[in-house]
Amino acid sequence: MYQPTIGLEIHAELKTKTKMFCGCLNDPDEKHPNINICPICLGHPGTLPTINQEAVEAVLKLGLALNSIISKISKFDRKSYFYPDLPKGYQISQYEEPLVRGGKLKGIRIRRIHLEEDTGRLLHADDGQFSLVDFNRAGVPLMELVTEPDIKNSEEAVEFAKEFQQICRYLKISDADMEKGEMRVEVNISLREIADQRRLDTQINADNIRENQRNHLRESAFWGTKVEIKNLNSFKVVEESIDYEIKRQSEILEKGEMVKQETRGWDDNKKKTVSQRSKEEAQDYRYFPEPDLPPLNIPAIFNLKKMKQELPELPEAKRRRFNKNYGFDKKSVEILVEDKMLADYFEEATSELKAFNPQTNYQLLLNYFTSDLRGLMKEKNISLESLKIKPEHFAHLVYLAEKGNLSSRLIKDLLAKMAETGEDPETLIKEQKIGLINDDDQLLAVIKRIIQENKKAVEDYKKGKENALQFLIGQAMEKTRGQGKPDKLKTLFKKELS
Ligand code: ADP
Ligand code: MG
Ligand code: ZN
Repeated sequence: MYQPTIGLEIHAELKTKTKMFCGCLNDPDEKHPNINICPICLGHPGTLPTINQEAVEAVLKLGLALNSIISKISKFDRKSYFYPDLPKGYQISQYEEPLVRGGKLKGIRIRRIHLEEDTGRLLHADDGQFSLVDFNRAGVPLMELVTEPDIKNSEEAVEFAKEFQQICRYLKISDADMEKGEMRVEVNISLREIADQRRLDTQINADNIRENQRNHLRESAFWGTKVEIKNLNSFKVVEESIDYEIKRQSEILEKGEMVKQETRGWDDNKKKTVSQRSKEEAQDYRYFPEPDLPPLNIPAIFNLKKMKQELPELPEAKRRRFNKNYGFDKKSVEILVEDKMLADYFEEATSELKAFNPQTNYQLLLNYFTSDLRGLMKEKNISLESLKIKPEHFAHLVYLAEKGNLSSRLIKDLLAKMAETGEDPETLIKEQKIGLINDDDQLLAVIKRIIQENKKAVEDYKKGKENALQFLIGQAMEKTRGQGKPDKLKTLFKKELS
């Protein structure tokens, strides 16, 4: 048995107005190449960078949200390497004095969060004859979060990455859309033998061992050889690559061989990690302090106390509160918390519903919200911003449903009509824009036909099976396209069959 040890490095592009060190627009949707560029982000000699305060503030917000330590003095460094998407020949990053250290997320310790700049994009021709480069992304603020190696399996890794994404969205600092490359994950993974660990513990805890020996044992034997998997661009691939690596490394160790320290990539066609470069080929980035940027005196620039107070409620707190206040199960809470705007909408509807019906338990509201309303929005491709149904009107509809005299079919129709018109359900019913059949004769005609057509059910009912009556009512609902009130149909059926 081997115990996996995993640490993550997550990059996220910040959604600031301008780039990290110049005034160019930071517009991820710009389709035309090389529009948002200037001599600074193109790395022309003699130009000087300036620090984007909005980007620094974004990272600090995340640090505050994760209860991290915010550095008093933070510095930028140059990380030198050559690649055609990096026009300066170095990337401005942070090495020794990152903005943020420590903190925790989902029980995983955060090592650091720092700021750097993104590179341009390369587009390679299919025939390999040439490559194009687009510098619109060069110099876009990029935040990097590094965890301690506290993660034990792919599930925990994905959970961490998803929570990171959600928090970025709650804080409105990054959309962190993995499909768009706004969030990129690197996995560091090693395996160690569990049995060895026990033996090691006995050695370490032995009485006759000197302290420095003890420390050495701890350091050297605790970790296995680390493999880094780069550029993972979906949660699924994070999961698959970790599971694959655990299997691959186990098999190597099983044979008594050693895992090679290297960087690997994910081949999504073969569903395998593949070697990219080994430790011997590892680059020396020649980090040194960026001479063109002053150290940042954080407390002199930011009111951290105020920033902390102004943080929005974070997903975890929201989950707890939703569970406590409404008693919803984990899965439902997750649907609500997934999107902050959706959660806000829902909460507004709850308080409106409470006004209509102080006795409500919100269960029906939850059901209509998670299935019908979200279903409608998905089907018709309606975003929350463009949704015409006001939370109050939605709550009103649920209230009518709670009173029990609207069929589920009718509720669906009403909801669709509300989305079209933005009107209150009661108004729609009154104005007959949605038909409710109130005419007894009309309903009786339907009922008589159903009694004719369902002899067996009628017999069953007469023998005392209540289910059979429900079945007949259901048939009537279908015939009237939900426009008969269930309670009225029930009375009429009973009368007709008595
Ligand atoms: P490097 O200098 O190679 O980038 P670091 O020590 O800075 O390595 O760690 C980078 C990432 O690797 C961090 O997320 C860290 O938690 C993780 N990590 C460190 N050691 C191990 C290990 N033995 N197994 C798995 N992950 C590790
Ligand atoms: Mg690394
Ligand atoms: Zn620029």
